[in-house]
Amino acid sequence: MAINKIYLHWSATSYKFTESGSYHTVVQGDGRIVRLTSYDQQTAHTFRRNSNAVGIACACMGGDPWNDFPPTKEQVENMCREAADLANRLGWKPDDIRDLSTTGNSVNRILTHAEAGANRDFPMSLVAQGSGVTDAEAIRLGLPHANYGPSRWLDGWSGGTVHRWDFFKVKSTDKDGSGGNILRKMIRDFMKATPSSTPPTASGRDCAIFLNNVKITTGSFRATAHVS
Ligand SMILES: [Zn+2]
Repeated sequence: MAINKIYLHWSATSYKFTESGSYHTVVQGDGRIVRLTSYDQQTAHTFRRNSNAVGIACACMGGDPWNDFPPTKEQVENMCREAADLANRLGWKPDDIRDLSTTGNSVNRILTHAEAGANRDFPMSLVAQGSGVTDAEAIRLGLPHANYGPSRWLDGWSGGTVHRWDFFKVKSTDKDGSGGNILRKMIRDFMKATPSSTPPTASGRDCAIFLNNVKITTGSFRATAHVS
């Protein structure tokens, strides 16, 4: 599977979610990175966007979302480390990873599920054409899927059905819609600072991790930063 995009999720669970089948990798509340599926295998994490993409999730936001299991600093950082490490391995450059802009069609490589649900990587005109169209019809016409993202964006992008809003923001006090750009900045910084930042250790469940059919590492591991 060629990887064109990385999607950032929250699992809407407790901090300990580790079920395989959806996300390739899940970061626990304590920051532990659990790799469930090889990055060259397709899984089901982001509607109509799974065939060339990796899904990485923070296990959080279940129950009463911002009160019971809000994203922790450790897991957000380690999700970004993992994404940065994969991006580096894919040969992407920090400057290739574009941020959200008001004109749309700007974010490209790395999107939050909130942004993907809202089709923020398509031109606004195409998104408008896809609005109210059945999924089968949208596929036939080459349009993006219906907008199932947040109900309202501060920059005027059209609102969706709020089926998914993963990382619409990183903290409850952040501005609506700010999550993607905050996470991408962190990812670019990790890409520059530590071209290969995630050495495996012997802890955790052991499994081979493949990328484009090449074994790149094994096992799950606990990143050492912020764990003492
Ligand atoms: Zn999601």
